[in-house]
Amino acid sequence: MATLAGLAGLIRALFAAAGRARCPGCGTEIRALGALQVADRLAGLPEGTRLLVLAPMGDRGPGTPAGQVLGDLQKDGFSRVRVSGRVVRVEDLLEDPAGAVPAGADLEAVVDRVVLRPGLFNRLADSLALAFRLGGGRLRVAVEPPGGPPEEHAFSEDARCPGCGAAFPPLTPALFAAGGEGEKAGLPLPLARYVRHVTLGPWTYPEVMAWPLATAGERLAELRARLGTSSPADLPIRPALRLVDELLERVASLVEAGLGHLGLDRPAPTLAAGELQRLRLAGALGRRLTGVLYILDEPTAGLHPADHPGLQRMLARLAADGNTVLVVEHDLDLLREVHHLVELGPGAGPDGGRLLYAGPPGGLKDAPQSVTAPYLLGKSRLRRLRRNAPRGRIRLRRAEARNLAGIDVEIPLGALVCITGVSGAGKSALVEEELRPRLSAWLRGEGGGVEIEGGPAPERLLAVDQRPLGGGALSTPASVIGVFTPLRHLFARTPEARRRGYGPGYFSLNRKGGRCERCRGRGRLALELGALPPLPYPCDLCHGRRYNRDALEIRYRGLTMADVLDLTAGQAADFFRRIPPVRAPLEAMERLGLGYLPIGQPVPTLSGGEAQRLRLAVELAREAARPTLFVFDEPTRGLHQVDIQRLLDVFDDLLDRGHTLVLVEQAPEVLALADWVIELGPGPGPAGGRLGAARPPASVAGAGGPTGPHLARALEAVDTAR
Ligand SMILES: [Zn+2]
Ligand SMILES: [Zn+2]
Repeated sequence: MATLAGLAGLIRALFAAAGRARCPGCGTEIRALGALQVADRLAGLPEGTRLLVLAPMGDRGPGTPAGQVLGDLQKDGFSRVRVSGRVVRVEDLLEDPAGAVPAGADLEAVVDRVVLRPGLFNRLADSLALAFRLGGGRLRVAVEPPGGPPEEHAFSEDARCPGCGAAFPPLTPALFAAGGEGEKAGLPLPLARYVRHVTLGPWTYPEVMAWPLATAGERLAELRARLGTSSPADLPIRPALRLVDELLERVASLVEAGLGHLGLDRPAPTLAAGELQRLRLAGALGRRLTGVLYILDEPTAGLHPADHPGLQRMLARLAADGNTVLVVEHDLDLLREVHHLVELGPGAGPDGGRLLYAGPPGGLKDAPQSVTAPYLLGKSRLRRLRRNAPRGRIRLRRAEARNLAGIDVEIPLGALVCITGVSGAGKSALVEEELRPRLSAWLRGEGGGVEIEGGPAPERLLAVDQRPLGGGALSTPASVIGVFTPLRHLFARTPEARRRGYGPGYFSLNRKGGRCERCRGRGRLALELGALPPLPYPCDLCHGRRYNRDALEIRYRGLTMADVLDLTAGQAADFFRRIPPVRAPLEAMERLGLGYLPIGQPVPTLSGGEAQRLRLAVELAREAARPTLFVFDEPTRGLHQVDIQRLLDVFDDLLDRGHTLVLVEQAPEVLALADWVIELGPGPGPAGGRLGAARPPASVAGAGGPTGPHLARALEAVDTAR
């Protein structure tokens, strides 16, 4: 699986270049390097360093007389050898070889003598290759840095354990890809153990891959310092240093993109949409392209305000590099920073589609028709002019899912509660893996997971999120919100329908009757294109109207059922204003800013935000529901200020009915208007999971957490009950 920005590939290459392998059997270090790799390391030593390249001659076969070895060397053109650490001329030894090289003495051929200066790399590599051949896969290099103490380094070409002789393959990136990921490795066990015990500094490959990006930069810098120090055991490793530098740069840009909470090994397909978008952005910055048009949809979605400046810098740098950056965005801070701002509106759907403003943000003050300007200029402010004093509470003890540090959390009942914190701080762990399962169990009578004091004690738990609504292609807002059934009864009660014997079921899209059988009520057909996704087109029999000729002859106050399904929620609420079971749910849609949505639009085509608000409209339309704990995941994501205000008003309506609202939320303005703020953190991943503050927003603002300063500023920008 693809990981973040190709980081895994770089790390594998780094381990292959600079990792230290140990024999899993006896623990002895194994160093296997080719001539080019050795040359690369040596070439990184200071200019003027003297090198002596030596081939050990100890393994020339048992019983081979020293005289024969020396004679062969002379014939091959070698004039010097080293005997027990002393360099001598071969011809001086040939008179008495047995005396000059006694049994047990260390005999090495001097393959080359080099004083390091630029331009010597190829000669050095050739000499090292020759020394490996002569030395049967092993060589030694005596190093004398200018002014430094002499050192000796031994290198081995094949990865054979010097301790027990076991053979291992050389370290390659592919070996780490296959064997580095633990028990699911596709390698035989001894080989997998060998790979997993390769170290880089103090770390193994699985350990490095588990680093969160936020701390990876620091550790890579530490690794760079270690690799950069020349010691008898470690020659400077230039290719490894280049890899570390590349990693440092990419990690820094990912952290700047607000992705510091992710691990290096995080597979890209598991990222949230906003994270993926910022990941691509960081990648684009790294490639330094120019002349590209980037289109971004809500890049601030799910991003803690502390990470906004990083995002803004990235966008500004892309533009400064000679690119065009087009952003669909509602975040006011971002809108103030852009070069050119285009506002469409004024409303949604049929009420929108007109150009309200185009120009620099500064010119908005002279654009009276702008809907955004009043908010941008601070003339209109989000408001919630009341506080709901919490009466009871839900207590969760020892929440420890994922990174949560066994915290005790209290959630006030009958109030608007926001759970906040930087990305990865543990917000969704608390809500999805602690609060929801524990409360569900409590509601089923399997208590213990939560303690509830006072009221209103929830009798129901409902998650209102942005997941697509189910129901398939025949599902519409009309059916989701429960007005399609009363509409079918209305049509069945018309005189013509009664005369023909058409009951409410006749107008269903789910079964045979009045629906078009060519498209089976979908109004669309799909052209199969083999490997490509099917191409939808309007049904050629009903022309998208979904009903057959007979059904379309039935009219209610002049409209066919197909006409009714083409109405927007707002138009339909007006048309059916005398029919409360139809009007009320449609008005709930209008209150949530969905008045523009055609009530027959197939549900799979709704956006996440529309799906979430439609779910909420269902609840709003429900009369006298039992006390419910609603859980929202960033309900204001992608909403204009006007729609955020609508949502806040609806929240108060729900609170009036005795419900409790728990929001996972990043927007400081919404936090400022909540009754209670729970901040998790302070950092992402292992640096988070603790309870920062749990109190009314005004006192969280001064509590010193990462949210504090943003909340303090937001409290100045909204109208609250004081
Ligand atoms: Zn061994
Ligand atoms: Zn049809």
